[in-house]
Amino acid sequence: MFKTFSYLFSLKCLLKKSKVDVFLPYYHVVSDKNIEHIYHLYKYRNILHFIGDINFFKENFNFVSLHEILAYKRGEIKLPKNALHLSFDDGLQEIASFVAPLLKEHNIPATFFVTANFVDNKEMFYKFKQSLLLEEIKYHPETEITESDIREINYLNRNELDKFAKEMNYSFEKYLEERKPFLTSQQIEELIKMGFSIGAHSIDHPRFKEVDKEEQIRQILASTKKIKEKFNLEYSVFAFPFEDNYVSSEVFAAIEGKVDLTFGTSGLNEDIYNFSMQRFEMEKTQDPAEQIFREKCLKHIIKRYLGKHKLVRE
Ligand SMILES: [Zn+2]
Repeated sequence: MFKTFSYLFSLKCLLKKSKVDVFLPYYHVVSDKNIEHIYHLYKYRNILHFIGDINFFKENFNFVSLHEILAYKRGEIKLPKNALHLSFDDGLQEIASFVAPLLKEHNIPATFFVTANFVDNKEMFYKFKQSLLLEEIKYHPETEITESDIREINYLNRNELDKFAKEMNYSFEKYLEERKPFLTSQQIEELIKMGFSIGAHSIDHPRFKEVDKEEQIRQILASTKKIKEKFNLEYSVFAFPFEDNYVSSEVFAAIEGKVDLTFGTSGLNEDIYNFSMQRFEMEKTQDPAEQIFREKCLKHIIKRYLGKHKLVRE
């Protein structure tokens, strides 16, 4: 419905009426290949599709850097009309091999959020383990483990995945070593030299609603500190893993002043905290970027009209 209705208005009108100060679309990865550790989790953009998104951004938006957003938040500068900042979560290898060089070629700033324990391929993300095992199980008709046993695993019982792997004689360590799914410290340093910004994406990517407030605070503060110190950064920014809409005021109060900016995934919604911004995922559908923006803006305009455009935090 929103798809059709959004075409009753010009894109320019939708962007203006949505009154968004900075558009924050985010991705994880861009590739033409089947990435085994992601394949069973979500669909990502292929190269041609992503270049289409880039052209759409270039035609309709003004790219701003993380430094400009931070200065804007401190009240030092104004942002241009239709400001946009790109970010990528999970610190994947394809950032260094494809995404960053392409963005650099087009002079587009971006922030890459890395999960502290996964840098240098030291540890495997439990969701990636899930994807790998969902592939591996096809070659094990003898096993009693089912696909749903694998899919049902969450952050808290993630060690079960290691047991499943052992049963299938599969080694995550070998995959980490050979495939190297995550960025290395050296690659991150090169990205910084190229002018990109780096943020933290927690210690080991828990789903925040599955862990208590103390652990949420620890994941935020310890990861931002680690990334800031390791890469000698003048800023500390954090992107919540999965989602942040149920992260409480208590948690935000505990991190206020210790982290410069946090990024959630609640679309165009406005946060009640000035140091928290909301982004929207570009990989939920395979629609072209313009379609996604049109729908997001129209929904947001309606929500704004109904007074429901702000996040509610307990
Ligand atoms: Zn993530």
